[in-house]
Formats: sequence, C-alpha cells, structure tokens
Amino acid sequence: MLDAVINTHHHGDHTGGNGIFKAAARTIVAQANVPRFQLAAAERAGTVEKQVFADQTFPEVWRRELGDEIVTAQYHGPAHTGGDVIVHFERANVVHMGDLVFNRLYPVIDRPGGASIRHWITVLEEAAVNYPADAIYVFGHGNPKFGVTGERGDLLAFRDYLAALLAQVEKEIAAGKPKDQIVALENLPGFADYHLPRPNRLGSNLGVAYDELTDKAG
Ligand SMILES: [Zn+2]
Repeated sequence: MLDAVINTHHHGDHTGGNGIFKAAARTIVAQANVPRFQLAAAERAGTVEKQVFADQTFPEVWRRELGDEIVTAQYHGPAHTGGDVIVHFERANVVHMGDLVFNRLYPVIDRPGGASIRHWITVLEEAAVNYPADAIYVFGHGNPKFGVTGERGDLLAFRDYLAALLAQVEKEIAAGKPKDQIVALENLPGFADYHLPRPNRLGSNLGVAYDELTDKAG
C-alpha cells in the first residue's frame, strides 16, 4: 500500500492515474483548487464520469513524515495553473516541480485553469531561493536533449523564458500590433533551445500573454 499519491496539479497527464492509484494508495492529495479545475476541464472534455478526484486537499501546505522520509507539498499561488504544488522530499533532497518547469520547451499555460504568467515568474524565483541549492529538481516535461531532471539554474532559465515572453508581447502591444499579428511569431528570439518548426506552442503562449496583459478573460 502506498502512503499517498500527490497530484501536482489538475491536468489529465498528471491525474489520469488516480483511478489506478486509488486502490493502491491510502490517500490522494491535491491543493484545494485542483478538484474544481479538474471537474471543469472534464466537463469541457465530456469525461466527468472517468475522473477520480483527490480525497484530501489543503490550501497551502501539506507535510507528512512517511517512513523515513519527510514530504512537503506547498502551493505558491497561480502559475502554470491555479493549483500547482511543489513537492519536497527532504531527506532524499529531491524537489518535484510538477509542470512549473517545462525544461527548454514551450510550456502549456492554462489561463482557464487559473494560470498567471506574472506570478509564475515569482513562484520560480521564490523556489530558487527556498529549496536547497544542491537538490535534484524534477520537471513535468522536458526537451529530450535536456531531460526532466536538473538543477536550480534550470528554474531560472525557464523564468527567463516567461519573462521574455511577457516582454515580447508588451513590446508588440506598445507598438500597436493586433493580437493576430503578435501570435504569428514562429519562434522566440534568444531561446534557441526551445525552437521548433510550427506548429509549436509559442503562438498559444503569446496569446495567453496578450490576454493576461490586456486582462481579457481566458
Ligand atoms: Zn500541466
């Protein structure tokens, strides 16, 4: 029996295993906003009957001693979604970032699911200070060349991408460009590791940045 399964956020590629784990784990844990985002996404996709939700939620911090490990899941505010947690395995010195880091990859930014690019930047900067410098960091997604584990510097590298994304869109808005021209950019200059032929997620990232900066509803 597993002590606990922790959902880092509500997305299906991170909660789709709940149905299998439910029978094998004492509890499924998630930040308090996760079940409603999970339900809303399932309603849009028509998959409500397949959803298995966390049976234990918390607003900010969940901390347990499990066997010889101390596990802390902490919510730092809206970022990739409105319910991301960072999971710290203290004794192993491992920090799981969930989807707060896409390692050298254009990310998913889920504005209908509560995302905030501005606050995501803050969360990464706080995490780079609050968690150990020598920890192994685990990322929800990664460019195959860079992988899904790394170090503190990778958090700041991804922070730089998000900051450049906002700066790019701010600049274009100030120049009077309409949204359809702003989102047409093929790849973000200065971020060669992220570059892919279209279709890639940059257009969607630019669109979310535009909506956030102009405060349009997702
Ligand atoms: Zn995600």
